[in-house]
Amino acid sequence: MMRDLIGFTCDQCKRKNYTSTKNKKKTTDKLAFKKFCSYCRTHTLHRENKL
Ligand SMILES: [Zn+2]
Repeated sequence: MMRDLIGFTCDQCKRKNYTSTKNKKKTTDKLAFKKFCSYCRTHTLHRENKL
């Protein structure tokens, strides 16, 4: 499989809020985005994790 499922975990509360896919062959860097966390009720850094 070329594209792997990944999850994005809130850096503050460690809850998994988002899922996505990425191409491992093209994207080797760990991804991190500022996204809204409904548990923290604010925008926090979300880091890539395996599902
Ligand atoms: Zn959070």
